[in-house]
Amino acid sequence: MLAVSVLRRTPGSLSSALRRHRTAAVIAAPFARSLSTHVTNHACEDNEPGFLGSVETFFDRAAKISGVSEKNLAAIRAVDAVLSVKFPVEIDENTHVIIDGYRAQHSRHRLPCKGGIRFSDEVDLEEVEALASLMTYKCAVVDVPFGGAKGGVKLDPKKFTPAQLERITRRYTMELCQKNFIGPGIDVPAPDVGTGPREMSWIMDTYRQFNPQDVNAAGCVTGKPISQGGVRGRNEATGLGVYYGVREFLQFKEVQAMTGLTGEIAGKTVIVQGFGNVGYWAAKFFHNNGAKIIGIGEHDLGVYDPAGLDVEALFKHRAEKGSFRGFHNAEIIEQPIKILERECDILIPAALERQIGLKNAKLIKAKIIGEAANGPITPYAHDVLIKNGKVVIPDLLLNAGGVTVSYFEWLKNLSHVRFGRMSRKWEEAGKSKLLTLVEENAGRQLTPQERRAVIHGAEEHELVYSGLEDTMIGACEETRATAALKKTDFRTAAIVNAIHKISTVTTQSGQMFL
Ligand code: NAD
Repeated sequence: MLAVSVLRRTPGSLSSALRRHRTAAVIAAPFARSLSTHVTNHACEDNEPGFLGSVETFFDRAAKISGVSEKNLAAIRAVDAVLSVKFPVEIDENTHVIIDGYRAQHSRHRLPCKGGIRFSDEVDLEEVEALASLMTYKCAVVDVPFGGAKGGVKLDPKKFTPAQLERITRRYTMELCQKNFIGPGIDVPAPDVGTGPREMSWIMDTYRQFNPQDVNAAGCVTGKPISQGGVRGRNEATGLGVYYGVREFLQFKEVQAMTGLTGEIAGKTVIVQGFGNVGYWAAKFFHNNGAKIIGIGEHDLGVYDPAGLDVEALFKHRAEKGSFRGFHNAEIIEQPIKILERECDILIPAALERQIGLKNAKLIKAKIIGEAANGPITPYAHDVLIKNGKVVIPDLLLNAGGVTVSYFEWLKNLSHVRFGRMSRKWEEAGKSKLLTLVEENAGRQLTPQERRAVIHGAEEHELVYSGLEDTMIGACEETRATAALKKTDFRTAAIVNAIHKISTVTTQSGQMFL
């Protein structure tokens, strides 16, 4: 029988009700050992807050200086609803496993809710709630009109075959469908750690089978392959947003004064932790724009070369050999978390939460720490870094590229047409006529290359990149301005901005206290 609980939350009823629902999964014998092996990679002291505690601590700091009323703050901070399910999946003829799945909707002040789905054996309800809360603040920071949500399935995807993963993903989606936790107007998942376009495709197909009448079914999930209604540019969006964000911060006078760094990316030394979707693309964009990637850390090993690593060659090497070992003459770091402590201009944690805690915060030498992952720095560690004059660009701002482009994908799905399809040729024809007039007046013919460069109408990925760049520039500037006004750090400033925007929506709509 399925153990299912759907909890609707009110501020103040937080943890006790949930704890009653947190029971261990029953796992068939062959999987018991592998699934319960808990590798902790956290750099935190035991008395530091957990992930949810960290998000709430950061929120409370911003709340204090936000000027928003206590009752509004309490309503914004609380997680609205959580779903906790256990479902059986057949692994082979003789083995069934019971899988734990979660979805938390932190805020439904705007609908749909939005947030990724994580496949990891460290997933639990608290982690999902923390990530859902961050999603609400993130969407507000970049003016994406969604509430925040997050899902998780507790498993190590490396230990399952693609066929098994497909059954698990479809079964989890069935639970979301049955409990009304998915839909283009309700709650729209996306990829996160351990999931990608393939899983999003399975989710959409399952949702469609349950909702054959829904003409907007493709908008029930984002991060899909292009053939399934995905948008060009979504894969690389988070890493690209990280690059745009750091580039903007480098140009701020206060950042230059704090770090002694000049304003351009070219020539900066960069270390990236995590070489998955976000880390790989972030490293690639920094590399392609002239930065020197001197170190990359993975869960098993780190690789370091002060002369600079070729990101694409390293990616190919790891795909072929399964590890960084043996890559050119680069130094191999056996304890990968140590890569965070190496000297560099810009450090990009892009793996998991709680990687910089009290144990290693004082050892960080980077001048700028750009949080590409969600929650990589604990509150105490954040204090140490700020005291040491570091610039921390916070997750809710810096990794918002993913949800921004997910928003574009959702818009594409609701409008049922590729961006640019109706206007590209029309714009090209108009610009061509204008150029001909200019040429006639100027008495000079442009070369075919010059002409093509001017009249070229934007492709879908160019519109997506342009929308993302504009969004990141605007959100970075808003964060900088609030930090200067409130004389606070950039994380607190970004959360203050989020609180104001959410409070305005809820107050003006009258939905806060019905
Ligand atoms: P992913 O699964 O594609 O990549 C994560 C990578 O980190 C993997 O290669 C994994 O092996 C590595 N890793 C795991 N533990 C590690 C450790 N201790 N040290 C170094 N590397 C380790 O996941 P992703 O989508 O790239 O997500 C990474 C982070 O970015 C997460 O915090 C996620 O929540 C956040 N994020 C992702 C997106 C997105 O669009 N995918 C958007 C916003 C934020």
